[in-house]
Amino acid sequence: MLRGVLLDLDNTLVDQRAATAEALHRWLPSLGVPCTPELLVLWDEVAERHFKAWRERRVTFREQRRGRLREFLPRVRIPYAEGELDAIFADYLIAYESSWRAFPDVDQALAAIAAAGLRTAVLTNGSTEQQHQKLARTGLTGRLGPVFTVEDVGTSKPDPAAFLSACARWGLPPASVLSVGDRHDLDVLPARRAGLLAVHLDRHDGGPHDEPHRIRSLAELPLDW
Ligand SMILES: [Mg+2]
Repeated sequence: MLRGVLLDLDNTLVDQRAATAEALHRWLPSLGVPCTPELLVLWDEVAERHFKAWRERRVTFREQRRGRLREFLPRVRIPYAEGELDAIFADYLIAYESSWRAFPDVDQALAAIAAAGLRTAVLTNGSTEQQHQKLARTGLTGRLGPVFTVEDVGTSKPDPAAFLSACARWGLPPASVLSVGDRHDLDVLPARRAGLLAVHLDRHDGGPHDEPHRIRSLAELPLDW
């Protein structure tokens, strides 16, 4: 019997993809570089690689930010000195953080979950500090149950242990928890491997289309398991 809904944060509750694009559209022109679709892709690719190094504890959070710039800035021919990296990233962050918004379907989904008598929690591959800031900025603080980050559970999705640790901390058996997230490879498959129920929130219709529990919006979240 379902007792709780374990929600991913980025691109599930908060539109991180749009926030990144909006931030780059403001930040890059401030450096004299026009923002193109190719640069958005490049930024994401570089960011994901360095963020992964942080999640795997190979670098500090600040160092992964510097690493992203060391790789990205030469690609857009922006000269920099090593000592300027933190200040340059701070400018990007101002644009990024002011672009954080919750998806419009979140309110309805949280109301439906509460009406069904279910609890909520968050499991995210982000950092504790930044994810709490994100929840605060988007008006979600206090509207969800516990927030479990990589730093809390000691490992990151897709490690099934991240789900098991979150359920153990939450005090709910995995079989009574529904994982909901935008990444089939991170939020759905490993959740099932850990014994949870799972739904793929496929907002951009990226598939896989043969996933039996696939929804396009949180408004479609099935709660009758
Ligand atoms: Mg996500």
